[in-house]
Amino acid sequence: MPEFCDVALPVPLDMAFTYRVPPDSAPIVGGRVLVPFREQRMTGVVVELHERKPSVTAKSILSVLDREPVLDASLLRLARWIASYYLAPLGEVFRTMLPLAAEFKRGVGYRIGEDGLKALHLAGMSGSSARSQRSPEDQAAEFRALDYLAAAAETEPDVVPQASPVLPELGNSVASSALSRTLVREQTLRSAVRISRALLNGMVRKKWIVREDISTPQDASRTVKVAILKSAEGKLNENQRSIVDTLTASGGRLRVEMLQSLPAPRTTLGTLVRRGLVEIAEEKADFTVSRSKPRPSPFEFDFNAAQKAALAGLREAVAAGKFSGMLLHGVTGSGKTAVYLAGMRSVLDAGRSAILLVPEIGLTPAVAADLHQIFGDEVAILHSALSDRERAEQWHRIKRGEARMVVGTRSAVFAPVSDLALIIVDEEHDASYKQEETPRYHARDVAVMRAKMTDAVVVLGSATPSLESYFNTRKNKYALIELPDRVEQRPLPEVEIVDMRLEFQETGHEQVISRKLAAEIKERLERREQVMVLLNRRGYSPVVLCRTCGKKLECANCAIALTHHKREQKMVCHYCGYTARVPKTCVHCGSEYVYFLGTGSEKLEELLHGMFPQARIARLDRDTVRGHEDFERTLNALNEGELDIVVGTQMIAKGHDIHGVTLVGVVGADVALGLPDFRAAERTFQLLTQVAGRAGRGQSPGKVILQTYFQDHYAVQYAARHDFIGFYEKELRFRSWMHYPPYSALANVLVRSDKLDDALQWSGALGKWFSSTRHEAVRVLGPAAAPILRLKRDYRYHFVLKSPSREKLNTTLRAMLAYAAQQKIPRTQVIVDVDALWLM
Ligand SMILES: [Zn+2]
Ligand SMILES: [Zn+2]
Repeated sequence: MPEFCDVALPVPLDMAFTYRVPPDSAPIVGGRVLVPFREQRMTGVVVELHERKPSVTAKSILSVLDREPVLDASLLRLARWIASYYLAPLGEVFRTMLPLAAEFKRGVGYRIGEDGLKALHLAGMSGSSARSQRSPEDQAAEFRALDYLAAAAETEPDVVPQASPVLPELGNSVASSALSRTLVREQTLRSAVRISRALLNGMVRKKWIVREDISTPQDASRTVKVAILKSAEGKLNENQRSIVDTLTASGGRLRVEMLQSLPAPRTTLGTLVRRGLVEIAEEKADFTVSRSKPRPSPFEFDFNAAQKAALAGLREAVAAGKFSGMLLHGVTGSGKTAVYLAGMRSVLDAGRSAILLVPEIGLTPAVAADLHQIFGDEVAILHSALSDRERAEQWHRIKRGEARMVVGTRSAVFAPVSDLALIIVDEEHDASYKQEETPRYHARDVAVMRAKMTDAVVVLGSATPSLESYFNTRKNKYALIELPDRVEQRPLPEVEIVDMRLEFQETGHEQVISRKLAAEIKERLERREQVMVLLNRRGYSPVVLCRTCGKKLECANCAIALTHHKREQKMVCHYCGYTARVPKTCVHCGSEYVYFLGTGSEKLEELLHGMFPQARIARLDRDTVRGHEDFERTLNALNEGELDIVVGTQMIAKGHDIHGVTLVGVVGADVALGLPDFRAAERTFQLLTQVAGRAGRGQSPGKVILQTYFQDHYAVQYAARHDFIGFYEKELRFRSWMHYPPYSALANVLVRSDKLDDALQWSGALGKWFSSTRHEAVRVLGPAAAPILRLKRDYRYHFVLKSPSREKLNTTLRAMLAYAAQQKIPRTQVIVDVDALWLM
């Protein structure tokens, strides 16, 4: 065994750490180890085993957690690519790739320090004369804790066990270390002496006690009780018979939970157990995919010619067994999902694996039920509502090869499948594929790279492809497959633009709902058809303004106006969650003339209630939808005809097939056009096209009323004409003139600090460095105040870097980070966002 191993740890440092390998342990590359790091224990991934003695003394690893690599060679390669492309520490990339946090039990313990012993001694001698600002109660608690820890040091009552792995598949633990001899678990200490965490923190600062991390691996698998039929012989009464029959019918074993739903009394099972006919055992819980009933299979309709051609192209590429990329551009309602699922089905039939990535909101319980119906137990579903434990379970199922069809949101791109044949990225333009924390990867781009590295096929699908992806088809990097028509020859909806400036001139006041939209809604309600109204802004009023001093009510942590939420009677910051009371007078000058301006989805709902008192109205936004089930409940109600109008933010644009909606009203979806962001037009075009696509998916044709203050803007015009290519060509010209993606690689570098002086000084220092150093073929803009100058207490300045060469861009970024480190600017305060989606 080599003497040393290099371990990547989830810390914001661009390096691996060298540890000594104890004689009786056998770490493996791609496997996890538990190591001491500063005052903590951490899990990291072994990246290299070697004999190179480091210049400083290496600590020993504490235990080896895996006998088999958790990351195979191709995923390790992918991780290195991500670390290099997005300039992220490798250990943080691994942490994102491995959803195994549940296998690790966090914990801390305390032991008494020399100063603590001294304090205890002095207190005993003189009756404590030291002056203190702490209350007598707090002091008493501190001394109780010292007493307890001192006693523990002598008698070793609650000694913490060594880091012995309890995971069934884990390797050997290392021999004992002196590390945790007289350490007392925080829980034990706090319940024994009643002391607050804050006081313990104070004692640590005084060095009276020492805090140590005692996190240990734990078994994360859930278990359920299972009844096993041992014998069906002997006399049985009716209740006993029903249980035995049920067990026999299900192959001799069933969850106890299921038997308890039988009419038989609960004691019956106990009787059978006592008689030895049934045995109860603990088994690992199988994951229940969905509790919803499956809907009719998406394969029940016939594929049209375009769908058949798309599927044939996909199957052919998969059969070729080498990398290829495809962009599936299909208008809304053209049946892309059916093509994906049929493609995956053939991969499964061939005994290989596939991954389908979907945007966050797309994975409703009904979709899960569909998937389960098509793929049975071969599907694993990964989404954000899973607990750590469920996530780990799914990961192991995939790793063991039990689930070869993986469907999930962003991080499912890292699913440990083997023999990967196909990756599909549905709604590839969706912003939820970009992770907005380190590592700031884009799952679509990672999917393409993973396919390349494993000779798989990648399919990107959308009705409104990102400019980058469509550009790649023009450069022949991806094949273009088109689904130009809706299924069953349904027409795309007619779009009518209402110019809100004219509406204002003609009616004399600012309208939220134009006369045209109101008339069309009335007509639909009379015909018992359904309506969706989009307003991409939640809350009641987005701005509270004082008419005396002209100031707005802003968040205490961000340079952002607080939004009025009427029902909750709160002012809320949509960026950090800060809340304040609804003001009666101006907080700046005390004036009574405070005005609530603008309209959010909550107010729109109220307005519609006022205009159409008979209509049944629901709202879909982040205030009404807390999870997938809320979202689905409203969609179901719409599908069942229990609702007439649904109001909502962009969430409604991502709904599913609702056949009764014949009118979509768009109220202020062009808000984004006013934002200082080069992707504003693209985002607006996508949102308008997607929401328009909700209309007319059933028998009756659909109509869209698009209210706008920007009626001449090309994003609005092309969306109204369902003209993706027209929009694409025009937008591409702007991007080319301005050297924006896809004509250049772009990175946003954000410098932040909760101290304005630091933010200014650091961004100034980096600005000087950028201008005094030569960067071939890289343009640097900034430093400038970020459009949101203050966010979550941090002051923010930024640079935007553009280059036709990604390699040169990354070289500059790497040199910048090295300079920042040399200037002692903390790595966590300089954020590098490669291919940034937002420059805010
Ligand atoms: Zn004021
Ligand atoms: Zn805030």
